[in-house]
Amino acid sequence: RILLDKFCKSFGTTSVIEDMQLEVGSGEMLALLGPSGCGKSTTLFAICGIHRPTSGRILFGDRDVTNLPSQARNVGVVFQSYALYPHMTVEENIGFPLKVKRLATANIKQQVAEIAKLVQIDNLLGRRPGQLSGGQQQRVALARALIRRPDVLLLDEPLANLDAKLRLEMRSEIRRLQRETGITAILVTHDQVEAMSMCDRIAIMNKGEIVQIASPSDMYNDPRTAFVAGFLGNPP
Ligand code: ATP
Ligand code: MG
Repeated sequence: RILLDKFCKSFGTTSVIEDMQLEVGSGEMLALLGPSGCGKSTTLFAICGIHRPTSGRILFGDRDVTNLPSQARNVGVVFQSYALYPHMTVEENIGFPLKVKRLATANIKQQVAEIAKLVQIDNLLGRRPGQLSGGQQQRVALARALIRRPDVLLLDEPLANLDAKLRLEMRSEIRRLQRETGITAILVTHDQVEAMSMCDRIAIMNKGEIVQIASPSDMYNDPRTAFVAGFLGNPP
């Protein structure tokens, strides 16, 4: 599980997240849903170690990771811009996190083959990112995030660059992978349909606070505030 305990984040004198309490269960996929600027990415950056919290703690299971650098946290991330390495093949892109860890080449090759099969791009290993569709690039980014077998998977608007059809495909694809690997995941989105269709629970954020957290059906049937009702009712 992931636990944010009294998590606060300020930039200079501006407070962005105030006293957030959030627990994501082991193997759960949680959506962080909210309007632009409410603090979704800031929250993910703190979980993966790009930003230190101003105060509060971050735990993975019972392990306090608050002061650990990113590399020591074993988190897989997929952000909106996939940031694949353009000069490397698909195979090299996916294997890169293992190469950094100095695993043997044959070992890397085998693990890349396995994960590529899981995300169904095993026929594309020799291509470069520029020769792939958006959805295929997205799968490469996912494979690269999963290959270290992370404890935690963080997805920040991973489908925002895709067309409607691919987006639908990738929604079920990501959900399938998350279930198969049993990984604990947080999906950031401002698309309520995406949140509802992909996640076990939804946390709705506004101005740095979690307004309500519930299963998709409970959230829909019993929105606790006018903000939640309005946000779920009005597509962005
Ligand atoms: P979006 O849906 O547009 O991606 P978000 O919910 O991810 O929005 P954040 O990126 O977390 O929003 O930003 C939350 C607030 O923190 C915003 O008001 C933003 O301007 C501010 N902010 C983020 N990063 C910094 C920074 N490095 N320095 C100062 N302010 C920042
Ligand atoms: Mg963001």
